[in-house]
Amino acid sequence: MIADTEGIVFRQTKAANGRRMILLFSRKLGKISVGTGITEGGKTKSALAIRPFTYGKYELYKGRDTYNMNSGQVIKSYYKIGENLDSYMAASYVLELTEKVLGDEISQPKLFNILIEFLEALEKRTRKQDTLVLAYMVKLLDVMGVMPDLQYCSSCSKEIKKQENGNMTLGFSIVEGSLICEKCAKSIERVHNEPLIYSINFGIVSIIRYFKEESFKTFEKIGLDDEQARLIRRILREYMRYHLDVGKLKSEDFDFKEV
Ligand SMILES: [Zn+2]
Repeated sequence: MIADTEGIVFRQTKAANGRRMILLFSRKLGKISVGTGITEGGKTKSALAIRPFTYGKYELYKGRDTYNMNSGQVIKSYYKIGENLDSYMAASYVLELTEKVLGDEISQPKLFNILIEFLEALEKRTRKQDTLVLAYMVKLLDVMGVMPDLQYCSSCSKEIKKQENGNMTLGFSIVEGSLICEKCAKSIERVHNEPLIYSINFGIVSIIRYFKEESFKTFEKIGLDDEQARLIRRILREYMRYHLDVGKLKSEDFDFKEV
């Protein structure tokens, strides 16, 4: 079977007989391992298309139980991302995270498009790359069907809205994947004792809602302040660990600078 598909190269490793294994996030077939005789040394079109971060079009051949890449062609190489260390770290983290949450050979075209939009936005960015990473994490939760409920209190079901006068403190429960209103948060002792419940304010809720609703183009001129970014990152990581079984990533230590 021959299949043409667009794809994003997660990584490549050397295999026997001078061959390479490419881990590809393909639009049609999801995450697949593809063997190829194409080598990176050559300056051919196909050689350029198997580099990590590349968005390309690939002709694959499916044997009995393995994929082979006959040829590839670059659609976009995102080489500029590699010129900025922070951008490079951000992209490495996002690719590794995406690789972790994707099942083998399950097509996920929505996430594929979001990843392309992320890379596009990141390539233009020179600072506060972490804002884009956090936005990507929120969109990923949404696409994977594990977006937390940011509308109602999990304890009393009251709708949570912004209050005129308020810097209200809400709870966010990782386990339940939902908010706890100000009143319930006050009365629930565990808000302060339970490590999987965070204290957050409405501003944080608005940011997460905004990341879910708006496109990456909208975030072009937006950069979160470091304190907000740090809290959102902590919550999202904890949340992913719990709901998507994402453990510690290799690129995790590099993805955000501690200030
Ligand atoms: Zn409540």
